[in-house]
Amino acid sequence: MVDALPIGAAIFLGSELTIGAVNYQMLKIWSKDISVIDKTLHDAIPEIRDQGFNKLLVDVLNTGEEYHEPNGKAFIFENGNQVLKYFDFSFKALKDANGKIYGVVNTAVETSEKVYYQEKLEQANEEFLSLNEELSASNEELKSAYDEVDAAYRKLSITETKARMLLEGAPTAIGLIDADNFKIDSANEKLLQLWQINDAAIGKSLDAVLDQEVSSGLISIIHRVKLERKSIYGQDIEVAQRGDISFSRYFNFVYQPVLDELGNVISVQIVANDVTAQRNSKLEVDNALIQLNLAKKAAHIGVFDLDVASDTLYWDENCRKIFGVKASKEVRYTEDFLKGIDPEDRELFITSIRNAYNDNRYEGSFDVEHRVIDAMSGNICWVRTVGQVYFDEENVPQRFIGTIVDISESYKARKKLQENEEKLQNFNEELTVMNEELNSLNEEYQVTNEELISTNEELLALQEERDRLHQELSIKEERLRFAMKAADVGTWDLDVANNLVTWDDRCKELYGFSKNDVVPYDEVLRYMHPSDMPFVNEAVKRALDPSSKGSYDIKFRTVGAEDGRVRWLHCCGKAFFKEDGTPYRFSGIAQDITETQALLREVESTKNNLKFAIEAANFGTWHLNTNTNKLDVNDRLRELFALPDDGEVTRADCVAMITEDHRERVSKAIQATIQSGGNYDVSHTVRRKNSDDVRWLRAVGNVKADEEGKLTAFTGVVLDITEQKLDEQRRSDFIGIVSHELRSPLTSLNGYLQILTMKANKAGDQSTLDLTGKSRRQVDRMSALISGFLDVARIGEGKIKLNLKSFDMAELVKAAEEESLATITSHTIMFHPVLFTPVTADQDKIEQVLVNLINNAVKYSPHNSVINVACVTVNGRAHVSVSDEGMGIPAKDLPHIFNRFYRVESEATKSTKGFGIGLFISKDIIESHGGKIGVESVVGKGSTFWFELPVDPTPQ
Ligand code: ADP
Repeated sequence: MVDALPIGAAIFLGSELTIGAVNYQMLKIWSKDISVIDKTLHDAIPEIRDQGFNKLLVDVLNTGEEYHEPNGKAFIFENGNQVLKYFDFSFKALKDANGKIYGVVNTAVETSEKVYYQEKLEQANEEFLSLNEELSASNEELKSAYDEVDAAYRKLSITETKARMLLEGAPTAIGLIDADNFKIDSANEKLLQLWQINDAAIGKSLDAVLDQEVSSGLISIIHRVKLERKSIYGQDIEVAQRGDISFSRYFNFVYQPVLDELGNVISVQIVANDVTAQRNSKLEVDNALIQLNLAKKAAHIGVFDLDVASDTLYWDENCRKIFGVKASKEVRYTEDFLKGIDPEDRELFITSIRNAYNDNRYEGSFDVEHRVIDAMSGNICWVRTVGQVYFDEENVPQRFIGTIVDISESYKARKKLQENEEKLQNFNEELTVMNEELNSLNEEYQVTNEELISTNEELLALQEERDRLHQELSIKEERLRFAMKAADVGTWDLDVANNLVTWDDRCKELYGFSKNDVVPYDEVLRYMHPSDMPFVNEAVKRALDPSSKGSYDIKFRTVGAEDGRVRWLHCCGKAFFKEDGTPYRFSGIAQDITETQALLREVESTKNNLKFAIEAANFGTWHLNTNTNKLDVNDRLRELFALPDDGEVTRADCVAMITEDHRERVSKAIQATIQSGGNYDVSHTVRRKNSDDVRWLRAVGNVKADEEGKLTAFTGVVLDITEQKLDEQRRSDFIGIVSHELRSPLTSLNGYLQILTMKANKAGDQSTLDLTGKSRRQVDRMSALISGFLDVARIGEGKIKLNLKSFDMAELVKAAEEESLATITSHTIMFHPVLFTPVTADQDKIEQVLVNLINNAVKYSPHNSVINVACVTVNGRAHVSVSDEGMGIPAKDLPHIFNRFYRVESEATKSTKGFGIGLFISKDIIESHGGKIGVESVVGKGSTFWFELPVDPTPQ
């Protein structure tokens, strides 16, 4: 049965893939004979070992899954040569009754030609014709194969299972129909598919499962096979529709009788081979032929056919045209074909032919572009020759068939294009090179540019820095110039190596040397003060020694070279050294400090004087830093304040030593001075050391401010005024006692005089009355004097009491006038009219002042001179003045005239009685009223004493 199949079939058994059965078709495919039976696949066909079939087979064995490949490639040995072929093949697992896989059935139909023709379709029409022939031959072969199958069928006795498996596995539709009742004995999958029925139909009659039309057709064929007892073939039978499914496929059918021993047809086998693909190929070939012919006409394709063995060449009219060969001329490959090819391309052509003839790699194909020389015109044209060499069984080339197409135009165009492309290419390359050069130039340029930019930036920055420095320098130079000018500074520069000094005009001036700008150093030295020269020399030497770092700052004297003047100079300089330590330059400035030096000396001596004075006067001194509160005191102050001899003392320590009755006042005064500045002048007592006695001290000081006006130090001196105080006390005590002792007898005297006056009045004793009158005036004077002394004493003790009331100054002046008129006859006293001038004061005491001033005017001015008394209101003050035409007061005495016991020392005053207390008391009275008292006086012309008191505000 395997042999009967129209396709290659083989069975491989077991994992060794032992060939259990193989049909003739398969052997042909393999190029083997029947001896392969029972051999392993590997041993039987060693050449296919590495083509992957083994693995596929083993996979099917292992998995049971069918493997099918419609156009599988296989390299098969034919006549000792390996040939590539294509097969529609399948591997299907064979299972026993238990479903165990025991082998693989392999079916294969060669499709090489189909593939081949499909691939080469457009190459040549003859080829397609030949394919058709081949196909026809194949068909023939197939037919004969069917016959063989038919013959073999009867002989075959393989197990039903194997047959079924084979049937199942075949890609061909196979089935067996009972010839008597038309029941389906068996039908493989493909047949069932073809009929569009399933395996339930097996065992049933054809007319029961198929369309009426189909089944009656089949039944009539089976009838014929039964009658004729031979196979009936159907070729290219179209099966257009089965059931509802519409499709169009073509089949080659074989209806084959199966005979029993008696030669009766018991069943009919149906084999249907799907030839749709082949048929379509054939149709395609037909179409291609038509198209090729059309193309031939349109594109002047020449067709040639060379019989290689006989060297007979067939050229169609197009070929002849291309080669310039007459239609009638018989042509040959070597004489016409080869000779017509341009000598330059001939070798390529021959080589390509040889390859097509000999080399399997090219599979006979030929495709060359070459030039052809027209045999008649000698013109050259470009053609493309495409051909195919056909070989015989022995692989000897038989035919070389192909086409020739004139491609001159397209060649030219291509050539042109190529040239253009080459040009373009060259141009491009040039461009690329140029571009690269440009790029590298660009990069260089870029780098240079960047460098330039950064250099530029650096330069700019440097320039800016330089400009800035220049500016700074010029500002500094300017400043220096101004400063030097302002400071009157001269500059000098010593060239150390040559011992030459370069100096400016000012410097020359300072040395009193006006001649040269450059002088030897020795000459400069000559104008130093002799006493300072060694010291200057030493300082210069030190500056020129590297260990001194070159600094030079000294003060010395010069003696002017021309004017002989001694000047104090302050020289500052700096020496500059080389790396080896030798000085190469030494320059600096010189400044005239003669005046400063003189001032300094003066300050020094003043300081010394002060020190001596302080020491001589036995002053205590203090210096309080108001910021740090640090107090410095001298020993004398410690002594005066009874402070410890050494160690720190504080302001509080000092204040603590002040007696309680003065402490608060002094403390406040200190505070006020420190806060507000100004002078400080305070007297107070401190308790003496180890004693209950007190010491009177007077402290005088002030607060110093720094440059910003901030108060920083409170300094001053303290002097012991105990003796002075005691003197004052003693004097005042004395005055008190004296006044009292004087007043008592005067009181008695006054009493006696009153009695005397009364008696004289009674007696009418005029002379006694005169005497008692005079006595009483003297007693009054004496009383006034004593009152004055008492007042002074009281002032000293601060015990004057004011009896304030508001009164009219006009009244007061009037009272004084009345008293004066009564008592003074020696002078003309002019009382100027006084307006109503209300003041609040102690009337008696103010009157006392005015009377005192009038009396003084009388006392210190000549007889019969005029005394003017006036009271006017000026700026809200009652201004009372007493002017005389007397001796006046010398200027030197004026400041002291209101002091206690002060009297002008002169011949004139000597003769005038007085104690120098009247003005003192007057001043005290006026000032205790908040008023002022003063005097203007010209010696020999007269004096004007005046006082002022505030006028009461006028009630509105
Ligand atoms: P006394 O007149 O008792 O000496 P005063 O205190 O009144 O004391 O005067 C003090 C001194 O002032 C006098 O000694 C005198 O030298 C001078 N003095 C006062 N008034 C006048 C005056 N009008 N003209 C000149 N000198 C005067």
